[in-house]
Amino acid sequence: MHYFFVNEETLTEGSEVFLSREDLNHAYRVLRLKNGDHVVISDGLGIAMQGLVTLSTAERVVVKLIKQLPSGESPLHITLCQSMVKGDKFDLIVRQATELGVKRIIPLLTERSIPIHRSEQESKKLMRRLNKIRSAAAQCRRSELPALEKTYKLEALCREIQGEIAIVPWEEEMNRSIDQVLTQPCPISRAVFLIVGPEGGFTSAEIEALIKAGANIVNLGPRILRSETAACAVTAIIQGAWGDLSGKGEPV
Ligand code: SAM
Repeated sequence: MHYFFVNEETLTEGSEVFLSREDLNHAYRVLRLKNGDHVVISDGLGIAMQGLVTLSTAERVVVKLIKQLPSGESPLHITLCQSMVKGDKFDLIVRQATELGVKRIIPLLTERSIPIHRSEQESKKLMRRLNKIRSAAAQCRRSELPALEKTYKLEALCREIQGEIAIVPWEEEMNRSIDQVLTQPCPISRAVFLIVGPEGGFTSAEIEALIKAGANIVNLGPRILRSETAACAVTAIIQGAWGDLSGKGEPV
């Protein structure tokens, strides 16, 4: 069934919704939706409903909502804090994090990360990333769109992670591996922050600040992974251990 996000505030059984302007062309001309076709409509905030197309024209596609569907959301609240890397790599991370059930994505400025330029190009990039989130979420049937936050500096992030579980992969960590953290009980009621460094890695001073804020610094084994690989691999490991990637379909 094709999956669409709408901007309605509340979705209720029996009501009708219009597909958004962004989806209209795709729904009508590409998918050729017609009356009687079944689709899924989500508000992007956690509710997904089965719907029936009742009108399909080039100007308007109307869907009647039939019944609520089970949520495709992980019980685990993962925030991926990703040091800025080159544009297309960041786009890839955004897409993969969405598929892996991350709830928030924070672009992070660190000493060695790629600098950001406030320009029209940046706002175009942001739009492109929001579209990527939308299409990845529709493709993998998430009912909640991950939030793409504004860029954080490390100091601000250090304040936010206090009292939460924060995991920081650092290739120079010799004593602690990621599975030592993941054998702790599953923190369903707490946020899990995964903080991944840039291509140049974190500096020792940054690692000290993160330790002071209570972060768990971990090693990922003998190979040095690219930043985008580390983000995806560790998200999958955390979601497998504490979330819903074990394939059991139930919170662990
Ligand atoms: N500049 C570093 C070097 O060459 O030694 C490598 C940085 S790595 C390309 C990018 C990020 O991925 C790191 O900051 C870290 O967060 C994570 N990472 C990659 N491989 C890792 C490993 N084996 N252990 C822990 N973290 C790793």
